[in-house]
Amino acid sequence: MLTDQAAVADSVAEAGTEAGAEAGAPFYRAVGDEAEIFRAAAGGGLPVLLKGPTGCGKTRFVEAMAHELGRDLITIAGHEDMTSADLVGRFLLKGGETVWVDGPLTRAVREGAICYLDEVVEARQDTVVVIHPLADHRRELALDRLGTTLSAAPGFQLVISYNPGYQSVLKNIKESTRQRFVAIELGFPPTEVEAQVVAHEAGIDAETAGALVAFGGVIRRLDGSPLREVASTRMLILAGCLVAHGLSLRGAVQAAVVQVLSDDPDVVRALGELADSVL
Ligand code: ADP
Repeated sequence: MLTDQAAVADSVAEAGTEAGAEAGAPFYRAVGDEAEIFRAAAGGGLPVLLKGPTGCGKTRFVEAMAHELGRDLITIAGHEDMTSADLVGRFLLKGGETVWVDGPLTRAVREGAICYLDEVVEARQDTVVVIHPLADHRRELALDRLGTTLSAAPGFQLVISYNPGYQSVLKNIKESTRQRFVAIELGFPPTEVEAQVVAHEAGIDAETAGALVAFGGVIRRLDGSPLREVASTRMLILAGCLVAHGLSLRGAVQAAVVQVLSDDPDVVRALGELADSVL
């Protein structure tokens, strides 16, 4: 056990140095050439489309890149009731006066921040339309209510994410706009990297992290799976946290992975049996 813990300590230290771990830098282990592509896109002020399953590290990646590039990061979580006013801003009553309050997208445009629209595709077409002129060569945001148009400050960059498994971001974005995006595909990290991530984030030993990742891998490789989502890195980290706080490995997997993936009793039973055979 001691050896395992030493191995984790080493791998975590190594991961830290690799990520350019000055104090406060978000922990992110590169999976491929995503950082290189992002840097080049940032250099050209080009909008980025991050594709990948939920919980695979898209948000963490953007946090790490914003830190590396020394830009502020403004994150907006998309939902279906989101309106363009939620993005751009609105007039509010404050102490009897009507004042304009910038929305998060407008703040990012003014401040030259990275604006990360997480799952913005959940939003309706009439909401998403406000980002079009920001994503193309105009780099402008129309503030209709104020009767003005803002030019994006240097450093502003639009990043949107979606899960190609069940969303079609692209249907909400005009072809001409969509072609301005640089796409980066992020998948789940390779086994060794994912085990280091799970060990680091959950604070567990390498052996336990390795077992969780192995189980995650089995679920991801299931043929003809009835699951809408597979076991994500985030789920494996949650299971690891439960272990770190005293739950058995099998109990943690049941609570953080098996029960989360399905409500169907037959599927839950089958996943449980799979866990019994792998763990
Ligand atoms: P997404 O935005 O794709 O839904 P997140 O970025 O929130 O996923 O990732 C979920 C968690 O997984 C993060 O909080 C982080 O702890 C971890 N994670 C996933 N991939 C990595 C990676 N390559 N390096 C470091 N942490 C990672």
